[in-house]
Amino acid sequence: MTQSVEKTPAWLPELRAELIAKKEELTQRLEKINANLRRGYDADSKERAKEFEDREVVDALGNEARLEIQKINEGLQRMTSGDFGSCSECGGKIEKKRLFAYPYALECIDCAKDEERRAAHKHE
Ligand SMILES: [Zn+2]
Repeated sequence: MTQSVEKTPAWLPELRAELIAKKEELTQRLEKINANLRRGYDADSKERAKEFEDREVVDALGNEARLEIQKINEGLQRMTSGDFGSCSECGGKIEKKRLFAYPYALECIDCAKDEERRAAHKHE
């Protein structure tokens, strides 16, 4: 236990709370989306085609929310295991600023840039 306390940066609880709040918000949004979908199924409407179109849009929004919830869960898991904020490439620390702007980042800014460079020069 004492080891993980040493590894845990002071700002981690703040970011963790942010992620949990975000997850809550997304979960509520997803529930609303699901409720809308159900209403669509039950509706006895003459505008079936239009409804179907709406349903697809709503479904896409739902998938987006689900995907983000999954990323948040993975982030929270990494926080629990102590891997959060460690670069998956070099094992170095990911900058606090980067994590607050993009909590799902798995690489430090240097490795992310390296990857971009590699991707850009792939054809050489
Ligand atoms: Zn790195």
